[in-house]
Amino acid sequence: MTSIIYPASNLKSQPNLVIEKGDGVYVFDNKGKKYLEAMSGLWCTSLGYNNQELIDAASQQLSKLSYSHMFGGKTHQVGIDLAEKISDMVPTKDAKVFFGNSGSDANDTNIKLLRYYFNAIGKPQKYKIIARERSYHGVTVASASLTGLPVNHTNFDLPFSALGILRTDAPHYYHGSREGETEVEFVDRITANLEQLIIDEGPDTIAAFIAEPVTGASGVIVPPRGYYEKVQEILAKYNILFWADEVITGFGRLGKDFGCNAMGIQSPDILTFAKQLSSGYIPISASVISGEMYAPIIESSEKVGVFGHGYTYSGHPVGCAVALKTLEIYQRDNVFAHANEIGQYMQNQLQTLNGHSIVGEVRGKGLIAAVELVASSTPAQTADVVAFAMRAGQELGMITRAVAGTSLAFCPPLIITKYEIDEMLFILKSALD
Ligand code: PLP
Repeated sequence: MTSIIYPASNLKSQPNLVIEKGDGVYVFDNKGKKYLEAMSGLWCTSLGYNNQELIDAASQQLSKLSYSHMFGGKTHQVGIDLAEKISDMVPTKDAKVFFGNSGSDANDTNIKLLRYYFNAIGKPQKYKIIARERSYHGVTVASASLTGLPVNHTNFDLPFSALGILRTDAPHYYHGSREGETEVEFVDRITANLEQLIIDEGPDTIAAFIAEPVTGASGVIVPPRGYYEKVQEILAKYNILFWADEVITGFGRLGKDFGCNAMGIQSPDILTFAKQLSSGYIPISASVISGEMYAPIIESSEKVGVFGHGYTYSGHPVGCAVALKTLEIYQRDNVFAHANEIGQYMQNQLQTLNGHSIVGEVRGKGLIAAVELVASSTPAQTADVVAFAMRAGQELGMITRAVAGTSLAFCPPLIITKYEIDEMLFILKSALD
């Protein structure tokens, strides 16, 4: 037993894998065994391991200015440059950026920015947030309350109602549709439920609707065609903001620059980024709001004085330097176009598993996918089969992740090659067999 309380783990069992180093899309354990990292760590190491440019960006920044903060009148150039770059790239007009350390704290920040905004425009009663079942938005008290997975709620006594969290259907056709229901009918039904929820609660009390364009931790749910169009129509009708949690989908994962653009989501008002913002080399996150939301916040700040929110490591210069270099590499090397091409190849190859006796569904977009397993009749048995398949893959030299108790997830680095996708598929097929 070590002295670590392991995150997201069964605390009674100890880890069976000690990872020691990484190179490209591979990691190596402490016995020298090589694994294809088919999950980019936790959906984050988009440029793979041991990227010399990112290492140099971090080490040069460490030598130059290892720490400075952004509180009360202080700033630094690398932070300014990164905010400009993000603002230029994101699909939101005049975007303003607040830096944090993780996806979870960035979502907390966005809850506070929403409240600050609605207070500033004289609508303090408009504070509720609609989040979806089977969503993942983090694990801090507030972001775990947004999350729609029971495992992240159990025994934590989260303050859902104090935070005004409302829950609506997941756009998960495979698990959520009724017998004989078409995708169109499914979308009509769950968006009608959304509208009814808004009417029942009172549109004037609801600030925003939060969604991951495609989910990750909850089983890689790709909504049916037309879903976001309908959702955005309803939100516009009732003056409710759209908040895109792009912690996984931001920066090329779905084969386009942003998940919103890949999924037809128009001009989100709020966005959350982390993970691929720095290719997972250093913790950094960004909470982004539209210029339209920012204007009244500034005005109010003149009245109330200090905007009383910020982390010691908001805009950490080393994080900013690594993120800036990451974004430069994405653009210079056309990484998103590569992710699109290789992503289509990966999805086509994964689809060949559809006839396999223990595969229920293969779904995904770009370079993210889930293979849903159906070998057993009870949820606990299915979870065991998924865990077994994951361990078999590990023995054969590939790291994946069990998600939602029913699926194996795939989210390889964006730089992966066709040859490496073939290797991934070969190991996966052997593991399933
Ligand atoms: N939002 C989404 C969509 C995520 O997938 C995650 C993490 O996987 C988070 C938020 C939380 O990010 P973090 O683990 O960096 O706190």
